[in-house]
Amino acid sequence: MTAKIIDGKAIAAELRAAVASETRRLTAAHGLVPGLAVVLVGDHPASKTYVASKSRAVVEVGMRPLDYYLPGATGEAELLALVQALNADPAVSGILVQLPLPPQIDATRVIASIDPNKDVDGFHPLNAGRLVTRLPALVPCTPVACLKLIKSVHPSLNGIDALMVGRSHIVGIPMSQILLNENATVSIAHTRTRNLPDLCRRAELLCVAIGRAEYIRGDWIRPGATVIDVGINRVMRDGKSRIVGDVNYEETVQVAGAITPVPGGVGPMTIVCLLVNTLRAACMQAGLPAPSV
Ligand code: NAP
Repeated sequence: MTAKIIDGKAIAAELRAAVASETRRLTAAHGLVPGLAVVLVGDHPASKTYVASKSRAVVEVGMRPLDYYLPGATGEAELLALVQALNADPAVSGILVQLPLPPQIDATRVIASIDPNKDVDGFHPLNAGRLVTRLPALVPCTPVACLKLIKSVHPSLNGIDALMVGRSHIVGIPMSQILLNENATVSIAHTRTRNLPDLCRRAELLCVAIGRAEYIRGDWIRPGATVIDVGINRVMRDGKSRIVGDVNYEETVQVAGAITPVPGGVGPMTIVCLLVNTLRAACMQAGLPAPSV
């Protein structure tokens, strides 16, 4: 059996077109142009690349990019002051402070200072709590992206045996909560989990976000399972730098029922889900109904 490849690029392109159309409608009907403020402190090369691609995506759908590049030596008070100014600025619908932050800045304090209604990353404790209590919330983009990809093969997750490997606040925990809210039966694995291979073998839906290149092996996969690989790991292969996931793709594609490739799976969807959150935040702030995307 060879798994169906869940084409994140194609699904992301469809969603991007829907976001662009909804943005045009908002602008035409209400004169509203959603604005996304992205704040980068320092010049971490991967972060710079992410910020540049986010800005391009924002422009493509007709939203307004507002990028802030601060020097690596910026102090916490200065960053908090910028966040306060962005919170108060009506042209700013969403605020994203790119992580990681330099060591002199406490990321938890910065995240907590963002207006929860502009928290398009969904990392603010209020949004995390709203997700758990099933209230409307801005939910972290990567797990939302994963859910949209999963829904392309499983319209209903009622009762499905799901395993989330990884428990970060960015991916693993919100993903587990989203799956639970979708009525999946959810287990969560981490570095202290005993016998991970056996736990994986039971999962009809396996989501992995651990940051370990090709760690999950093909013989850990339940035949026919759906595998969502969130990992982005840079490795050297045949003298060339390549990006691989947390799942051994070559082995797993032979066993699984469906799988997200890396690259081209979760990554492209995540950026579009950031645009969806920006659109939702803009509507919420303007007192308009939630967008249809
Ligand atoms: P993280 O904060 O480092 O968390 C990793 C989690 O994996 C931790 O909960 C850790 O367990 C667990 N873990 C690590 N090694 C493990 C092992 N051998 N067995 C079981 N669990 C293990 O990472 P993250 O931010 O969630 O990111 C994970 C991966 O996803 C990275 O490769 C990252 O680049 C990628 N990512 C991709 C996107 C995207 O858009 N595609 C977005 C975000 C992240 P403990 O809690 O016990 O330490």
